[in-house]
Amino acid sequence: MSFLEYAPAPESTAILNLKDEYGLFIGGEFVEGSGTAFSTISPADERAIATVQTADASDVDRAVGAARQAYERVWSKMSGADRGKYLFRIARLVQERARELAVAESLDNGKPIKESRDVDVPLVAAWFFYYAGWADKLDYAGLGPNPQSLGVAGQVIPWNFPLLMLSWKIAPALAAGNTVVLKPAETTPLTALLFAEIVQQAGLPAGVVNIITGAGSTGEALVQHPDVNKVAFTGSTGVGHAIAKSVAGTGKKLTLELGGKAANIVFDDAPIDQAIEGIVNGIFFNQGHVCCAGSRLLVQESIHDDVIERLKSRLSTLRLGDPLDKNTDIGAINSAEQLERIRTLTEAGEAEGAERWTAPCELPSQGYWFAPTIFTGVSTSHRIAREEIFGPVLSVLTFRTPAEAIAKANNTPYGLSAGIWSDKGSRILAVADKLRAGVIWANTFNRFDPASPFGGYKESGYGREGGRHGLGAYLAPAGAPAAISEKKTRTRTTRTATKENRK
Ligand code: NAD
Repeated sequence: MSFLEYAPAPESTAILNLKDEYGLFIGGEFVEGSGTAFSTISPADERAIATVQTADASDVDRAVGAARQAYERVWSKMSGADRGKYLFRIARLVQERARELAVAESLDNGKPIKESRDVDVPLVAAWFFYYAGWADKLDYAGLGPNPQSLGVAGQVIPWNFPLLMLSWKIAPALAAGNTVVLKPAETTPLTALLFAEIVQQAGLPAGVVNIITGAGSTGEALVQHPDVNKVAFTGSTGVGHAIAKSVAGTGKKLTLELGGKAANIVFDDAPIDQAIEGIVNGIFFNQGHVCCAGSRLLVQESIHDDVIERLKSRLSTLRLGDPLDKNTDIGAINSAEQLERIRTLTEAGEAEGAERWTAPCELPSQGYWFAPTIFTGVSTSHRIAREEIFGPVLSVLTFRTPAEAIAKANNTPYGLSAGIWSDKGSRILAVADKLRAGVIWANTFNRFDPASPFGGYKESGYGREGGRHGLGAYLAPAGAPAAISEKKTRTRTTRTATKENRK
């Protein structure tokens, strides 16, 4: 029996005003798509939420054309201060519609409402506010004098943080003076379509933001479109490789935010109770569907048993179930495919000899669910120590010395993030210095701030999002050669930017 029995506390869906069908958002309005329409479903109960369109190559062409026109006629001519006003307006509208966006996100993605309400949506607003402030200060971003926008950005995002990933892509692109065509993941298009409504509400000039829905083939057509100047992709390493190949030699600027297999290193002098919370947050936040999740726990051998015992007792208190219930800690797995992948890898873990422990909890009979799971006795050669599971599964390894911890932490093809838990600042700095990871948290995990750059090493991709580094991904130094043969566009942008400079 658990200590506390919680009464259900479901968030109402009455605030949602969803349509049964959504078109593609091109040139400032919702239009019919040419591909086959499909349903987006709630992973918690497999019920259809709405029908969305598939954009085929001709729709992608229309969307890129709308973005190009908007770039040439309006956005590249507008002053940074005016672009900033639109971004501030979007940020405020996100705040005004925060509850509705959080409910829609939890419904479509399966994540607990307390996460979409307290983490995702506030960060989305923060991202727009932050980049709104940069729009008229590009000359002071440390990217050289008079940096130039690139043109049209083609952006493809995954399903784990649908609206947040959208904000990471759209906010810096617009602040830097580019127009965008964005494709959300096929299992989570809903909040991007609500965002399209916000774009309309904000009165953004038509075509500055275009949202097209569809699966991988739509994304492929977008990144390969010859009139796209910049490609920004967040998703799996496999697709990232394919995109890097297709973009190579085209002159398109590219950022890739891919997978991860982060080490969360706990030393024997760590504040243990805080570390336990950090480990739980590191891997069980958002059902472990987090690219920078602390999916490999490296714990010093002397405290291993104590940490595992406390971890199991803490995990036994987590509440799994209805994503819209305000008490829920672990929501639904986003799709049947992802559930299958998690199952395959956890079965491999058992087959390879690691010891499996699963938190005692009842799984709902409908929908896609996976109970929080820990593997102990994991070695660096096991698949569950090397491959990204992208689910609520923690692989535990041990170490004796800081050198061994560093060697094991770096023994991965990825390099997105890492965590260090220790009472000694000097140890944290010394270890952090040797970790090959783009983001390193000390005595905390999974903290995000728009001012802080985020990105990876090795197979985790290249380029940075967030902070002024994130602006750099959407700008070129003054006088840099045009990305594609859009000479007219180039001259106009340069002239506009110079005029802006004189103001
Ligand atoms: P995915 O690569 O399958 O899909 C991501 C997006 O790419 C989707 O919108 C999909 O439709 C599209 N896509 C698929 N094939 C494509 C192609 N050939 N060309 C262009 N677009 C294509 O990834 P996923 O399963 O949706 O997302 C999970 C992955 O994303 C994980 O590996 C995770 O680590 C990674 N991720 C990384 C970050 C980061 O910032 N580094 C953030 C979130 C997620």
